[in-house]
Amino acid sequence: MITRLNDPKYPRWAARLRATGGCRQPIHMRGRVLHVDRATGRLLHRYTTATEPEGVLHLPCKTRRASRCPACAEVYRADTYQLIRAGLVGGKGVPASVTAHPCLFITLTAPSFGVVHTRREKNGKTLPCHARRDAQSCPHGRVMSCTARHGADESCLGEPLCPDCYEYMGSVLFNAVSPKLWQRFTDALRRRVAKTAGLTLRELRERLTISFAKVAEYQKRGVVHFHAIIRLDGPEGPASPPSAWATAEMLTHAVQHAVRAVTVTVPAAGDEPARILRWGRQLDVRQITMDGELSDQAVAGYIAKYATKAAECVGTLDRRINPLDDLAAFNLREHPRRLIAECLRLGALDELADLRLIQWAHMLGFRGHFSTRSRHYSTTLGDIRADRTAYARDEAITTGRLPLFAEDTVLAIAKWEYAGKGYSLGDALLAAALTGTALPASPTSGGGDAR
Ligand SMILES: [Zn+2]
Ligand SMILES: [Zn+2]
Ligand SMILES: [Zn+2]
Repeated sequence: MITRLNDPKYPRWAARLRATGGCRQPIHMRGRVLHVDRATGRLLHRYTTATEPEGVLHLPCKTRRASRCPACAEVYRADTYQLIRAGLVGGKGVPASVTAHPCLFITLTAPSFGVVHTRREKNGKTLPCHARRDAQSCPHGRVMSCTARHGADESCLGEPLCPDCYEYMGSVLFNAVSPKLWQRFTDALRRRVAKTAGLTLRELRERLTISFAKVAEYQKRGVVHFHAIIRLDGPEGPASPPSAWATAEMLTHAVQHAVRAVTVTVPAAGDEPARILRWGRQLDVRQITMDGELSDQAVAGYIAKYATKAAECVGTLDRRINPLDDLAAFNLREHPRRLIAECLRLGALDELADLRLIQWAHMLGFRGHFSTRSRHYSTTLGDIRADRTAYARDEAITTGRLPLFAEDTVLAIAKWEYAGKGYSLGDALLAAALTGTALPASPTSGGGDAR
């Protein structure tokens, strides 16, 4: 810290830190950009990182995950919010008439794999967790009742009343097949809508577009739920209205049917029998309206919030696990440790190799995308980022920091190389102070290979 503060290039270092938005683990790039007049070969402008502190330029890491870099995850969250919102109320190339299209917000849940500690509230009061007057003891001698009124951040939440009764196998297999279950759900939904309308699938595609935007959310017990927006458009996507028969009620019935209709079978493996997995009984389907109880803003907020989270909120590790690692050496609670151990056990069975459970053990078996949109939903994250880059360049030109060139007369010659990542402990402390962000719990964990 003292060396950095005394460095004559400190003001520049601090300015670059702010330019990355306070990124906790910036990428270090070394290189130069030359702008050359195509006609005369004259050098018009030259930028090199040689004059920067340590000869490198810091760029934001652009992670989605709040546990790794809160600043970059916030940019991702805000972009996702804009993208989801555009699909609901228009904007970013989507016409505002999209608000009149039938649109649902649904939550698909996982089934129960055993009783877990939960916090339930009613009228602002916390209810007992799982109170049963005539509770039986399980085969392991544990009474299947919990009368505690759990606080919001008690670490037992989501953990089973009896870990030995809990179906760890079902839990990790559900996570592993959930992307396939989702795929089968969307196929079944299209088939059901076509059948309701008396059309073939091909005819349906010519008359109706069904768009999806979904996020996966880890429950405290370590299984994923999916939250999704489903919207009906005409054949040309959001710019064309759907037919009169394509109503929110029709879509609601089709969703309810499709959720019940789909299963994924996991083959028998080792001593384990084949298993059929399906969605949980709990299904939430709500209509999104401009003025109703479920507003477009609330939905966009939910989806964007979940998009920056991963499994670490349930107490697992934030990185891949080597099957040779000693799980007892990690500082984990018993529930996530047993979920990880089950991934490693099942992942070693040949018949389940496709599920790649060992590679995804740290995600408790889930290897899908956290946040996906179908093609016609709205704009893309890439377009939003390109807009931001163009805006920043325009501003740099109007404020005189970048010269204005007519693009077709100037040749830009760039050469870049990767030169490291992250901050040293002293820099991390300064960065946290300058940006007003909390320091990571273990400052070296995000540090990477910085000097
Ligand atoms: Zn970052
Ligand atoms: Zn409890
Ligand atoms: Zn038990």
